[in-house]
Amino acid sequence: MQSSPYNSDDNTKQTCSVTVIGAGIIGVVTAITLLREGHSVTLIDKDKPGSGCSFGNAGLLARSSFVPLTSPTTLLQAPGWLLNPDGPLSVRWRYLIKIIPWLYNYIKAGFSNELKQRGEAVYQLTGPSVVLFEQLAASVGCSDLLVKTDYLQVYRTRGKLLNAESDMNARRDLGFNISTVDADKLREMEPDLSTDFKWGHHILGHGYVKDPQALVLAIKQQFCREGGVYVEQAVTDIVQNELSCEVVTAEQSISSDKLVVAAGAFSARLLAATNINIPLETERGYHITCPQAKVNLNRPVMEGDNKFLATPMQMGLRFAGTVELAGLDAPLNRRRIKSLQRGASKMLPGLDLEQSSEWLGFRPTLSDSLPVICTAPNNQRIIYAFGHQHLGLTCAPMTAAVVADLVAERQPCIDISRFDVKRLI
Ligand SMILES: Cc1cc2nc3c(=O)[nH]c(=O)nc-3n(C[C@H](O)[C@H](O)[C@H](O)COP(=O)(O)OP(=O)(O)OC[C@H]3O[C@@H](n4cnc5c(N)ncnc54)[C@H](O)[C@@H]3O)c2cc1C
Repeated sequence: MQSSPYNSDDNTKQTCSVTVIGAGIIGVVTAITLLREGHSVTLIDKDKPGSGCSFGNAGLLARSSFVPLTSPTTLLQAPGWLLNPDGPLSVRWRYLIKIIPWLYNYIKAGFSNELKQRGEAVYQLTGPSVVLFEQLAASVGCSDLLVKTDYLQVYRTRGKLLNAESDMNARRDLGFNISTVDADKLREMEPDLSTDFKWGHHILGHGYVKDPQALVLAIKQQFCREGGVYVEQAVTDIVQNELSCEVVTAEQSISSDKLVVAAGAFSARLLAATNINIPLETERGYHITCPQAKVNLNRPVMEGDNKFLATPMQMGLRFAGTVELAGLDAPLNRRRIKSLQRGASKMLPGLDLEQSSEWLGFRPTLSDSLPVICTAPNNQRIIYAFGHQHLGLTCAPMTAAVVADLVAERQPCIDISRFDVKRLI
């Protein structure tokens, strides 16, 4: 059997006690990986596991989506998107002033000449996703939640198809099998798709999760069965001692040798207690899930013009995506939900929106679209694992493998130099 974080036979590891803050997909996969390395692991979250961003994502194991979203192609389209109320990007204008420094760095990163290298760094996390999730799901007993799949990205015009070509070529360069399909082929593959869509990219070699929260819960349940401890309390403080780290909640403080911060978009708020200020923003995303859609998709389909993904999930057809810059505290914006509903209905005429659920999630995003996976600059006992923006589900298994290396103070299994927080502070 191929060696992987889920079938390791290395018996020489030093073990310790570890607390993991955050039971999203990054936190739970990290927690079970650490437990299986022999550490004594406590996982803590303020809510039920998988209630944050990992609840409502589009479920795609987006192995080939490694090109950073901050690219000249996307940035040049951004003004047009902002002017279109149904476009993929919106800003709460009052919030704009707060994020000017972040936005400046975001745009700067998009036009930098390091795009290719950043993509390659991300590919180390996305590339093995399907294989590693298959192993993890089998070991947890939830293989039924994973589907190996191709997917489609569809466009109304040839111009939009051509806009996406440079991204697709970068994927082809790394061996992905991607073909261009015309209107007839689209109809054959997805008969319920609107005839407005004339072009598509057919992308092979991916996977998707039929219920992202169910996956998190299954991993957490197995973690507890194998001896991990789950605590459902909000962390209010982190106290650093010479010999340990303490996580403080309203009810108790939990002391451990090492601490992993995997609290998604809320990680920077927690780390402020350790005197480290990280410019972590949130790209807010939305979904609607239609339990009685009355239309069908055979695979995930990305609406390439307005950038949302339609995924045939266990609980219905889910439409998820778009970006809203408005911070962590603003409530759900109904205009974004309405816009997603309009987009979904135009994509699949005949779609029944009756009883559809609505959701807002907080993607954790750094200005260069790379995550932070490293040891804290001021404390070797604290390990950071957050900032996976649009790719947290996809990147979870490799992130967990790297965190396991950092906890064990081994050489990381991949080159993590670009994920070091020092680039941002
Ligand atoms: C619309 C949308 C579609 C997406 N589609 C995809 C996709 O198809 N594929 C993909 O790979 N990714 C996708 N993503 C991105 C992905 O969902 C995220 O990157 C991922 O869920 C982040 O996981 P996480 O564990 O870092 O954060 P979260 O899931 O947010 O988990 C963080 C956890 O920390 C907890 N927490 C926070 N503060 C505290 C505290 N003080 N005390 C205790 N606990 C705390 C929270 O309760 C939460 O459970 C999508 C995101 C959105 C919004």
